[in-house]
Amino acid sequence: MLNIILFGPPGSGKGTQAQLLKEHFNLIHISTGDLLRQEKANETPLGVEAKNFMDKGLLVPDEIIIGMISTQIDEQQEANGIIYDGFPRTTAQAEALDNLLDLKNTSIHKLIELQVSEEELIQRLMERGKTSGRADDQDLATIKHRIQVYKNETTPVAEYYQQQDKYEAINGEGDIDDITSRLKQALENIQDS
Ligand code: AMP
Repeated sequence: MLNIILFGPPGSGKGTQAQLLKEHFNLIHISTGDLLRQEKANETPLGVEAKNFMDKGLLVPDEIIIGMISTQIDEQQEANGIIYDGFPRTTAQAEALDNLLDLKNTSIHKLIELQVSEEELIQRLMERGKTSGRADDQDLATIKHRIQVYKNETTPVAEYYQQQDKYEAINGEGDIDDITSRLKQALENIQDS
């Protein structure tokens, strides 16, 4: 089973690339952002609670996220592998994920970071906001706040996996197909190793 964390700031292309890699390698794609937006749309108790954080560009509390991901992993026993997108976003989440995978006798193979300049991220998110309908893509202050939250709370996750020698950086700028090729190569290297 191949377990990959597709990492990077908001707007770095994780969702787009995860979708393409999922088809190519026959993997499951788990996006905590998508799961939360579904809960929010269905107005479940979890969704109603999460909305307060999401609309402000804040992280949803770890307990909520860890409970949600644990259910997802349990449902994916037969998968070829999983691409995690937007998770883990804190070291507490990373530790919880490692423990959950350990129970299933597997582990994270690699965290791959998509590197994109802040200027480009802001431009992409403002553009996405025109059509995504996402409250958190609509104004510049919230977008900048999400990038700041990423820097403060999420970048330690990359260091956490770097210490385990599981970190790789990929250039996330340029043509979408070129970025996909770089990622495919990285995943093939992991499969061959
Ligand atoms: P995303 O679609 O990954 O950009 O996530 C949208 C929003 O959902 C984030 O700004 C957070 O409010 C929330 N969210 C998604 N994933 C997580 C996570 N792993 N931990 C905490 N909050 C999350």
